[in-house]
Amino acid sequence: MKLNPFSLIEELINEHGSSSILRERLLLLKDELRNIEKERTELKTKISELMKENAECRKQLDKQNIPDQFTEYLGALFKRDPSGRYAPVAHCPECKRPLWNNEPQIFPYECSTPGCGYTIMIHESLTSIVDKLNKK
Ligand SMILES: [Zn+2]
Repeated sequence: MKLNPFSLIEELINEHGSSSILRERLLLLKDELRNIEKERTELKTKISELMKENAECRKQLDKQNIPDQFTEYLGALFKRDPSGRYAPVAHCPECKRPLWNNEPQIFPYECSTPGCGYTIMIHESLTSIVDKLNKK
């Protein structure tokens, strides 16, 4: 429970013969405190909404910002080596790190970066995908 300085002052006024002026001031202060607390709650909500929105914008920006050596295919990125050939390794479109999967027929590919959490189901084999990309 929060310590409320106004209840202490209120008690003091009640115990020692109340003054109507002090009581009025106390009421004004209580109103002000209520307004400030309401405003603070609204601002906290607004900040958390903006933080969410900002994170979402960053994600979108990272997705759109695909480095030259990558090509997007089926929601994953494939990296070209200096000779222009693609290796059969899918990369995360968000952090550009390799995706991994032991059972691609059953489970989605997962990003290898801790905390990234990007997953994507790729039904085609990576070898056949890079074969197509290498023919382009
Ligand atoms: Zn990632």
